[in-house]
Amino acid sequence: MNNDSQAKQKWQKQLTSLWPAIKASLAMVRKPCIRKHCRACACGDKHPAWLLSLSYRGRRTTMYVPAALAPTVKKAIQNGNKIERLLYRAGPELVRRYRKSRQNR
Ligand SMILES: [Zn+2]
Repeated sequence: MNNDSQAKQKWQKQLTSLWPAIKASLAMVRKPCIRKHCRACACGDKHPAWLLSLSYRGRRTTMYVPAALAPTVKKAIQNGNKIERLLYRAGPELVRRYRKSRQNR
């Protein structure tokens, strides 16, 4: 059981260091503005914008992300992926820990 509380502590530390975390994707898109005679829009360059998209239970959601927030969102996506990898690893570790504690009896 002591082994389990150690694992819990380790888990809490890892999760805390991986905040903020989200599950989504971020893409740069180009959209036109509302200004008349905008050079960027006239030549087809338009204006860069960040788009967050995610799907949850089959429903897809997208929303614009302010450029200043984009680096934070990118980091949060990376953290989310790291947490996902930790969860995949957690299964085998849980079983191994259980087996070990049974052997030590
Ligand atoms: Zn424009």
